[in-house]
Amino acid sequence: MSLPSIAPPATIGILGGGQLGRMLALAARSMGYRIAVMDPDPDCPTAALADRQVVAGYDDVGGALRLGRFSDVVTYELEHVALAVVDALDSVVPVRPGRLPLQVTQDRIAERRFVEEAGISVAPWREIRTTDDLRKAAEELGLPLRVKATTGGYDGRSQIRVGDAAALEGALERLGRPSGDALLAEAEMAFEMEVSIIVARGIDGRSVAFPVARNTHDEGILAESVAPAPVPTEIAERATQLGEALALNMGLVGTLTAELFLMPDGRLVVNELAPRVHNSGHWTIEGAATSQFEQHIRAICGLGLGSPAALAPSAMVNLLGTGRARAARLDVDVAGAAHAEQAVHLHLYDKRRVFERRKMGHLTALGSSVEDALGRARAVAARVRWADEPADEPADDPVDGGKEGHR
Ligand code: ADP
Ligand code: MG
Repeated sequence: MSLPSIAPPATIGILGGGQLGRMLALAARSMGYRIAVMDPDPDCPTAALADRQVVAGYDDVGGALRLGRFSDVVTYELEHVALAVVDALDSVVPVRPGRLPLQVTQDRIAERRFVEEAGISVAPWREIRTTDDLRKAAEELGLPLRVKATTGGYDGRSQIRVGDAAALEGALERLGRPSGDALLAEAEMAFEMEVSIIVARGIDGRSVAFPVARNTHDEGILAESVAPAPVPTEIAERATQLGEALALNMGLVGTLTAELFLMPDGRLVVNELAPRVHNSGHWTIEGAATSQFEQHIRAICGLGLGSPAALAPSAMVNLLGTGRARAARLDVDVAGAAHAEQAVHLHLYDKRRVFERRKMGHLTALGSSVEDALGRARAVAARVRWADEPADEPADDPVDGGKEGHR
């Protein structure tokens, strides 16, 4: 059986209008598709790229049905979309990557069970609710532990490190989740390297994988990625097989990212899954024959998948906000200099406000080696400055440290 492909000028509905939605929309537009987006923020980064916009939260079934009426296929750019939204849309319009990928990845405990059922390792973990449970987990798994909220976390938020026995007391209060909530406690892994694999799976069940990326985090936020990761071919092949197996088990159509810990003994341990394009795949915009964004659009529209081959050793450096919340304006000289730099590409997400550690954009660079590419991107990143607000503009704090931070 072959399902019909969704051809341009069909409309692609995107649940979530952050930077990932924006870059999906940019790719889709250049392919001739139209865009509808649903996001609670009318000024979200995808707004300027969308033909139609529904201003509604990620759990708003009525809003989602409005989006569905405009759309020939619906996708999501974040995993915090309510399952009820997908259920309501499902009878009206295809939702891809699908319901199961969302269900599995929006709850860290469900995610770990799913990965283990596929015979793939995760860090040793326990479900805990109380400080007594945490103490027991520490006895059984050892310390340090990472304690994570099961839902809603991103960019290192909603998780804490419990370094020693003294830190057990009050740890759950520090996490700030209502007492009695199910939480994930897992062993801190002494990894050699963090890597990620992004696979795309088409309607016909065929999948292709991008080269593995090596990722560096700074307090839980991705700072840099390089690809192809400097790892032996055998490890890259295992990462690919693991990603393809998980995509198959989820019945996923679109892209799947697996964040992995590469252990000193060569084992690959799954840290987190995302049924979507991913920050660690931004290097593909200039660095691969097909970008992860075009690939996702191809997959969900039933088109043939593009070549994922790397064109050159590539690097990506995130541009995070600094300082207090204010109107976002990149220093003009810096913007000019970044664009003048050979083989370094500036990507900004048109976020209206900048604040400390907000993802504002990224740089990609190609080079003769990944270290060369990384050096070029870092050199430009070091010069990026966000302009100080004009004196007449009132100071302002982030609307909500939670969602606002992500968008
Ligand atoms: P998020 O959803 O915020 O990305 P992650 O679970 O991926 O949450 O954690 C963010 C980062 O924190 C990881 O990329 C890794 O650097 C570190 N980290 C998380 N869990 C562990 C762990 N069990 N062992 C070692 N490092 C971890
Ligand atoms: Mg992560």
